[in-house]
Amino acid sequence: MDCPACSGLMRRWIAMPIDAKKDEPTPFGRILRCDGCGLARSSRMPDPAEVGGFYDLKSYYTHGESHMHAVSPGLIDRILIRLAWAADRATPFDVDAVAAMLPSGGRVLDIGCGDGEKLAAFRERGFDVLGIDPDPGSRAYVASQGLTALPGTAEAPPSELADRRFDLVIMSHALEHCIDPMRALATMRQLTAPGGIGYIEVPNAACHHFETFRQCSEMFDAPRHLWFFTPDGLAKMADAAGLDIAAWRHNGFTRLFTPSWRAWECEIHDRLARRGIAGGAKRHSRWRSVMLLARAAFAPANRKYDSIGILTRVPDRSGATLRVAA
Ligand SMILES: [Zn+2]
Repeated sequence: MDCPACSGLMRRWIAMPIDAKKDEPTPFGRILRCDGCGLARSSRMPDPAEVGGFYDLKSYYTHGESHMHAVSPGLIDRILIRLAWAADRATPFDVDAVAAMLPSGGRVLDIGCGDGEKLAAFRERGFDVLGIDPDPGSRAYVASQGLTALPGTAEAPPSELADRRFDLVIMSHALEHCIDPMRALATMRQLTAPGGIGYIEVPNAACHHFETFRQCSEMFDAPRHLWFFTPDGLAKMADAAGLDIAAWRHNGFTRLFTPSWRAWECEIHDRLARRGIAGGAKRHSRWRSVMLLARAAFAPANRKYDSIGILTRVPDRSGATLRVAA
């Protein structure tokens, strides 16, 4: 199988026999990785009709809850969190900075809008906002906030949008859920007005945390995650889709050292261990947190943060160059 981003060879990488959140077997957890750019994917893609069932969970982000339980930090945890926080130089998606690049009152579309947090933030700043989400629970929640989310995905956008164009199209933690991310990026490009901006954020499979804990990482999450991106793989895929990268964003570091995060990743490991199939999977012990902090604190951003984002632009027909703040 060839890599859709760089045509490299994709080889067997990770085998995760269970859906950790459901604690039941899944056939979609065998992951192939590209030799060239590090992009990875499930060896078997679900039928679109199967995907809905993956999200049939008691709690999920889009329902405004978390599967992670609150764990009170002890003394060592508090020291770890304080040190991680001091080393955290994240550059997350900044609503005000992006709003400043858009025409006043412009149109904003969030594909995979979840609980509608970004929609609400842009509406507050006077923008005309619209969401898309395949999850009815998510759409109902968004509606309860006085916002609109249409059913659909980036791969199958609602037909109402056929002739519409947006000044900003967001796909944050959505692309890794797609069966066909190239098609999703093509939709994004099509829905973005000339001169407009696209923002794509995905988990970072090249960070030290993911490389250490792999299938026992919160960010693994197959079968909801079907693709796993490295900075190189994301850049090559965006390029193949005709999107110019204007700036990179990095996000997610201190949270990796919280006891709630660690307890959930231990639980993933223990769900494998109870079945006798943990193999070489690493359990996220407090000691491994200490080692991870030592390795990652001063690592380059592309190896440090659990999520990577790109601000992309669709060329303006007039040939004018869009200014994007660094
Ligand atoms: Zn590749």
